[in-house]
Amino acid sequence: MKQHVTDPEICIGCSACELACPQKAIKSLLGRYCVDAEICQNCGNCIEECPTGAADCFIEVSTYYSQESQSEWTSLPT
Ligand code: SF4
Ligand code: SF4
Repeated sequence: MKQHVTDPEICIGCSACELACPQKAIKSLLGRYCVDAEICQNCGNCIEECPTGAADCFIEVSTYYSQESQSEWTSLPT
């Protein structure tokens, strides 16, 4: 399945995605903006507002990464 995440190598920490999310599915942890996959409705608002394309990121997973684990990423998991 796909998980919506932000790319830590492109994100500049501007918070536009957090402000744009009607579900409040994005929060900042350790300065990283992380999507809660259980809450995200895939509306695309954050992707439209992101100035760098970092929010336009989807990875294939077997189980969702928590926001806490995402916050420790320096690059996308392989
Ligand atoms: S796609 Fe929509 S619901 Fe999901 S994190 Fe972005 S703004 Fe929030
Ligand atoms: S809008 Fe994009 S660049 Fe800004 S914090 Fe969110 S993911 Fe990072």
